[in-house]
Amino acid sequence: MAATVQALALSAVAGLLDLLMPPACAACKAPVVTAHGLCPACFAALPRLPHPLCSRCGTPMPPHALVEDVCISCCNQPPAFDSARAPLAYAGPARALVLRFKTGREELASLMARMMLADSALPEGAVLVAVPLHRWRLLQRGYNQSALLAQSLARMSGHIHTPELLVRIRATPSSRGLTRAQRLAKVAGAFAVPEAQRPRVAGAVCVLIDDVLTTGATAAACAAALKRAGAAEVHVRTFARVAREATQP
Ligand SMILES: [Zn+2]
Ligand SMILES: [Zn+2]
Repeated sequence: MAATVQALALSAVAGLLDLLMPPACAACKAPVVTAHGLCPACFAALPRLPHPLCSRCGTPMPPHALVEDVCISCCNQPPAFDSARAPLAYAGPARALVLRFKTGREELASLMARMMLADSALPEGAVLVAVPLHRWRLLQRGYNQSALLAQSLARMSGHIHTPELLVRIRATPSSRGLTRAQRLAKVAGAFAVPEAQRPRVAGAVCVLIDDVLTTGATAAACAAALKRAGAAEVHVRTFARVAREATQP
């Protein structure tokens, strides 16, 4: 009963706020009907990833560039994770959403999580793991956007999200301008599963959550740390991914 009264009070406050500050599109700030949503123009302009995708790294590929659903780059050197999926390319309104999410709009987590779940279901019984921020970056920003996404996904899907399952043991300076190989070398060994968390990871199917997949170097380093701790499978789920040139066989 108390919870119902509280919910009614909260929705009344939200209604009042809507009157004082009309809700704006989460990507372009145009007026919209409900808070934390997108305007029709931004929704229509969301850069959905073209299919087919490599079944391993999730990169969109022309069908002739896939060998049994896997791209040539994954055939030659399979990544440490078992799959990577994102609903959108990191461009247009999707990029605007990520940038606003990273700079103080924590409430966008549930909108982004909803879009991720609509695109691809999480494996049953999987443990959700957020890509950790180094503690200095966490102090600067005040929150870890990947952990917020993981919390929202856990709330909506009923999966378990354990914070601190994976920790960043080494700060990694900005990767801007580095090649994929340089990024891989830089983040290798930057993550670890604390001793006390190992029983939760051993034999588990883990789903690594992040906002954007760029080169996949961070995801691969996290997946390698989870596998060293005994994870049976590691799947990567992000809100968006940077488009990579399709590799021809
Ligand atoms: Zn908009
Ligand atoms: Zn691939």
